[in-house]
Amino acid sequence: MSTSINKNPLEFKSFLANLQPQLRQMVQEMIESQLTQEVDQWLYRGRHTRRHQVSRGGKAICHRCGTRQAKAFSRNGHRQRQLVTTYGVISFRLPRVVCECGGSVRMPFSIVRPYQRVWDDLIDQVKRWAHWGVSLRQMQAAIGEQIKTQMGLRKLNTLVQDITSPPALTLTSVPPLSCWMVFG
Ligand SMILES: [Zn+2]
Repeated sequence: MSTSINKNPLEFKSFLANLQPQLRQMVQEMIESQLTQEVDQWLYRGRHTRRHQVSRGGKAICHRCGTRQAKAFSRNGHRQRQLVTTYGVISFRLPRVVCECGGSVRMPFSIVRPYQRVWDDLIDQVKRWAHWGVSLRQMQAAIGEQIKTQMGLRKLNTLVQDITSPPALTLTSVPPLSCWMVFG
């Protein structure tokens, strides 16, 4: 099998082309599964447990009334979100949680922050590039080629500034490739 792929670069290209969407699909599924598990964790119950049987509170908090009591919270469908990652642009369903007061609940998701558009794996990549002295335009070109998305120079500049601004120690204290360990 692999020998015929080696003989024909076109076949290798089409193999890679097939690999990309499947990888994105896998990353999407893993993100959604992780988020669902974290909702179960912060609500202290799975889908089929009644909420009034739970009397615990945690880091999830209602935007409106400020309660942390998990029994006040219910699952409320999903919101479609997009993240630019090193695997490409991933569309995924972010679980929504609502409080009995009608307020929306801020979930302390470990893998996605509120309003996050660029995922931490790509931020780490940009961090390495900045460390190596890669220019913003080169980063932009690499992201366009690898991730098939346009990232504005201003956005990239903001990322680089965030990375290199005051606690610059984090730049050297973060071991390279640390983000991969998460998925290891
Ligand atoms: Zn509330």
